[in-house]
Amino acid sequence: MRGRFAPSPTGPLHLGNLRTAMVSWLQVRSLSGDWLVRIEDLDTVTSSVAHEADQLAALAAMGMQSDLPIVRQSTRFESYRDAIATLRRLGRVYECYCSRREIREAAQAPHDFTAGDAYPGTCRELSAARREQFRRSGRPAALRLRCDGERFVIDDLIAGRFVGDADDVVVQRNDGVPAYNLAVVVDDAAQGITHIARGGDLLTSTPRQRLLQELLDLPEPTYAHVPLVVGADGKRLAKRHGAITLADLAARGVSVDRVREWLMSSLAAASADEFDINLVSELPIMVSNEDF
Ligand code: GLU
Ligand code: ZN
Repeated sequence: MRGRFAPSPTGPLHLGNLRTAMVSWLQVRSLSGDWLVRIEDLDTVTSSVAHEADQLAALAAMGMQSDLPIVRQSTRFESYRDAIATLRRLGRVYECYCSRREIREAAQAPHDFTAGDAYPGTCRELSAARREQFRRSGRPAALRLRCDGERFVIDDLIAGRFVGDADDVVVQRNDGVPAYNLAVVVDDAAQGITHIARGGDLLTSTPRQRLLQELLDLPEPTYAHVPLVVGADGKRLAKRHGAITLADLAARGVSVDRVREWLMSSLAAASADEFDINLVSELPIMVSNEDF
């Protein structure tokens, strides 16, 4: 079996990210599999390289290192294009000319997806004339998946049974960059990932990823969605909560060993051998400065 941690190199990993990585790492260790790190740098910006190095250093400090060479999504566009071509052949993509802002929100916010945000289908049945008009006006098109009301049941190892509908998710943004939801299923399959443990905010994106897997004839991995770590106010961990990264904690004199201990105890694991993913709570974990 194989698991992975797939951070986007957009900033330092915080305790919640490290905890998610730790669940994946412990799950893989307990099953004697390989653990991989994949860098999800579809949006290559100049700062990603520095963030990537910083993230890898934080993982290493917690004792987690990729068992295989690290793959970067920025090197894999050809595979994503092939997958999009397959979907096109199946008649499962359509051009969407909705505004840049709408597209960006849809493509970049897998974390904020709720059923109410589903694309309303404005461009699903554009007349040929209207499409031609858009093309001629030079307005760039995104590509969306043509969903047919498919519903999926996810038996999540932590969250339990989750039933959700797929939707007309963006597979290629209108700037030509493949979208997260497409890239993630292509890469998980290409890397032979059998066990996915990742942030709980992605649970609602899983049905759309399951549909992409079915259409692309890719295997279904096992899912475990790890609850978020929240601050003392119950809100998703953010800078204003104080010391939330290894660097912040080090500046307050908290050792990496102490952080690792906190992560392990929050996961009901005293050692890697004792880890049982079924014992990880499905409830958010609260962290406050008094914990350290
Ligand atoms: N790159 C995504 C993130 O940083 C995670 C993708 C995944 O684990 O499926 O939130
Ligand atoms: Zn549209």
